[in-house]
Amino acid sequence: MTEFHPYQTLVDQGVITQNVMRYHDKGIVRASEIVKPLASQAQHHVEYLLLGLPLSKSSISHSGASFTPDTIRHMLSSYTTYSVHTDVDLSSIRLFDAGNVGMHVTDIEESQRRIRKAASAVLGSYEPNCTFFLGGDHSVTCPLVQGIYDSFLLKRDKDRRIGIIQFDAHHDLRFRDQGGPSNGTPFRGLLESESIQGNELIQLGIRDFSNGKTYTEYAHQQNISLYTMQDIEQNGIIHCLSNALQHLKNQGIDWIYVSLDMDVMDQAFAPGCPAIGPGGMDTRELLHAIRYLAKQNEVKALDIVEIDPTLDVRDMTSRLAAQVLLHFLASRIQHHSA
Ligand code: CA
Repeated sequence: MTEFHPYQTLVDQGVITQNVMRYHDKGIVRASEIVKPLASQAQHHVEYLLLGLPLSKSSISHSGASFTPDTIRHMLSSYTTYSVHTDVDLSSIRLFDAGNVGMHVTDIEESQRRIRKAASAVLGSYEPNCTFFLGGDHSVTCPLVQGIYDSFLLKRDKDRRIGIIQFDAHHDLRFRDQGGPSNGTPFRGLLESESIQGNELIQLGIRDFSNGKTYTEYAHQQNISLYTMQDIEQNGIIHCLSNALQHLKNQGIDWIYVSLDMDVMDQAFAPGCPAIGPGGMDTRELLHAIRYLAKQNEVKALDIVEIDPTLDVRDMTSRLAAQVLLHFLASRIQHHSA
């Protein structure tokens, strides 16, 4: 006769659960359950990868973006794995979590070097279909892209070029000698270090009264492709993206990095960004754009930056970030199975 075990009985009945979900819903998988720790050397085939960059000391304005990677992971528990639109269920996919990069307490440039090393290490060790980088403020994008280039060298793939599609209200082309490598300088940093050339960078969603003229002029001088919010309003986000992708493909680029600064969103949809403002994108426009990009096999990496969970309202902005991941995954899987 087995011994009566009151605790185990309640666990078996689902009355006590160790899942993070708030309500037990039999047979329904929460999206947080698809995230599995990346055990070193145990996984040879890693389709989708996640890496957290909890750095916000490099932000020009006050930012708690260091809390964001863990907040987005947690927000996945708010959603199921089933996409009604595509009839794709993500419950069987594995999104491997490589963890967070440990940041130096005071030395920002050391933290950025660690980010570069981490990006190089994960992409030097694995060949994911897509890697998701969770910032952090926008300064993380510069060492991430440099780290990806380092991983190409590790793989003796030195001629490969990266095209960048940046969603942002701002150019992020500030002078680096006015405060070091901050969240105002990531693309200046990539250009001045000759990691990328201007014609390999697309900026989408640039907004009025949020940038200095000198930076727009610099963007034109560098042959950066600019799509302002007005361009998106007049022509539609998909038309802009289609042109941007063609521009990169015409240069033979087959490795695209998408950088999603959440402040590209209107403040009504992303109240948790340090730099909020009106006149930005709405959530349906963004999710449509993400689904479209997920159908492009060249898109190999996506970062999500500039969310401060300490300023957010009911985690609205981190919830949107979690949905960006889910919409991307469902759309890509539908695309691959079509
Ligand atoms: Ca930015």
